[in-house]
Amino acid sequence: MTETLTNPPRALIAETLSRVLARVNAITEGGPGWTRPSYSPLESEAHAVIEDEASALGCEIRRDAAGNLFATLPGRDRTATPLYIGSHLDTVSQGGAYDGQAGVIGALAVIAALRAEGITPASDIVLTVTRAEESVWFPVSYAGSRAGLGRLNPEDFEARRSDTGLSLAEHLKMEGFDPEAVRSIVPPAPARFLEFHIEQGPVLHEVGESYAIVDAVRGGLRYRNAQVHGTWAHSGGAPRASRADTVVAMADLILAMDAVWARMLDAGHDLTVTFGKLDAASPQHAMAKVPGHAGFCLDLRSDEVASLQEADAALQAEIARIEAARPGIRFELGEQSRSAPARLSEPMARFVAKGAALQGDSPRRMLSGGGHDAAAFGAAGWDSVMVFIRNWNGSHCPEEAMDEADLARAVAAVFLAIVQESAG
Ligand SMILES: [Zn+2]
Repeated sequence: MTETLTNPPRALIAETLSRVLARVNAITEGGPGWTRPSYSPLESEAHAVIEDEASALGCEIRRDAAGNLFATLPGRDRTATPLYIGSHLDTVSQGGAYDGQAGVIGALAVIAALRAEGITPASDIVLTVTRAEESVWFPVSYAGSRAGLGRLNPEDFEARRSDTGLSLAEHLKMEGFDPEAVRSIVPPAPARFLEFHIEQGPVLHEVGESYAIVDAVRGGLRYRNAQVHGTWAHSGGAPRASRADTVVAMADLILAMDAVWARMLDAGHDLTVTFGKLDAASPQHAMAKVPGHAGFCLDLRSDEVASLQEADAALQAEIARIEAARPGIRFELGEQSRSAPARLSEPMARFVAKGAALQGDSPRRMLSGGGHDAAAFGAAGWDSVMVFIRNWNGSHCPEEAMDEADLARAVAAVFLAIVQESAG
């Protein structure tokens, strides 16, 4: 078969990636970095760019009630299980140039390459651009893709955007969508989903590999707005024994959870523990005061629900210990939000591996630390897989870096997998 296999049009793939990345990244609030909030006019504008590019490639364009965009390159057998490929175009505030958009534009490049070579795939290929993936805006995991999959909960529509204070329902309306129609979305039949995404971690950069196949995604358990209550007092006047110092109590909890993390890793569990934000600098706080209040957020992640439960139970036990040892201290964790860990599809992982092998690559298998739309599709019963692209300088920050050549190589691997399937 290999002698009849079409070579990937590598120049066209590279040109498409850099041209369309520049088009999308021109759409942003003022810097530093790139900012396109979920369900904002900027996100809608970025979607319009992809619709424009996909229309020019002759794709059939469709939007669901939640504004997720589907651009279909028709396959030979329109009833065969389609292959959806895509990601999101919203960003965190002052985020990077590649998170989400690299995946969307990678999918577009796959379709551009198939078009250029005149290849009709075996099944429909559906470029998928989801909405509202970054949960920093609405405290809802994968709001856009879960809406499209008919899996939003009634209370999710009332979740408020962190900057405007308006609800998801209100922002849907502002972008021209009808929340009632979203509530009654009939999802597409479960199919295949593939998401290119930057790794957002150091593994591939450190080992010098351009891309990898992701076969599981960590889930999360979060307290976004936890509080510690104590007693305000004068720093010179309050004796040690009578203090209820919230910063000391918070520090105690942070070190205790760091020890819980080490213990669980030693026991062979997958886990991360992050206190991403500490707040003891309100106008009430001052040099000469014992802090009577503090706030924090806590993000636990693991590939197993049981490990998240165990870490959460340890958290409650540590809080009880600290409250007993430090009279006057009271923790209030507030609302908990969760996203489920997801095992991705083994047949889809093998599909990508076959394409990679055709260009001499043997990408490693790895775990995703961050949550992604692919997890939402996987949870809805789709055969879902991710392809991670090497990146460095972190992620969710303006310095986030990626080599477009690495993405181009991963795109070529998926192109080859599709070509091989169409030949088979
Ligand atoms: Zn992302």
